[in-house]
Amino acid sequence: MRIGVLALQGAFAAHAAVLESLGVLTVEVRTPADLAGLDGLVLPGGESTAVSMAAERAGLMEPLAELLDADLPVLGTCAGAILLARECLDGRSDQRQFGRVDVSVRRNAYGRQVDSFEVDLNVPAFAGAGLADGPFHAVFIRAPAIERVGDGVEVLAEVDGRPCAVASGRTVLTTFHPELTADDRFHRYLLAR
Ligand code: GLN
Repeated sequence: MRIGVLALQGAFAAHAAVLESLGVLTVEVRTPADLAGLDGLVLPGGESTAVSMAAERAGLMEPLAELLDADLPVLGTCAGAILLARECLDGRSDQRQFGRVDVSVRRNAYGRQVDSFEVDLNVPAFAGAGLADGPFHAVFIRAPAIERVGDGVEVLAEVDGRPCAVASGRTVLTTFHPELTADDRFHRYLLAR
């Protein structure tokens, strides 16, 4: 299995390390040629505006959109979740998205005073996927919030009464950074979908 990690900006190296530790070959994606032969994709956290502009400059928007049309496992974390969402609130007008998951996300929704926080999440879906249950320690960094979830989108976890991890088909979105802790269950959950 070969998974591409979009490596234009942000927290891509830690995702690659988690996947490699699970025996997955990873490819850092910077050009359209890097997309050849991928079985899955990770859009990491970072700054969604910067990633969107860098992807356009690299000619990656169209080829990425085509790859996302195939039924591959896709993980979007934080800024990556924004890029995959149908609707982005408080985004920049020139910010582009793939719109693959029917959710509305609000950028930087948790406000300045709590730019970053950590919380233990209950993720009931892990048990159904054969993963250990028990809390998942989640790191939120200038995180977006999921304010609307469309039909067919499964809520995997919530914080403060709002979804912070969702799944739709083989795509998993988290508004936090699952690659920053030693707990690899979201990556394993993705591979099992
Ligand atoms: N605030 C960032 C954005 O709007 C996301 C932060 C992150 O990915 N950690 O793109």
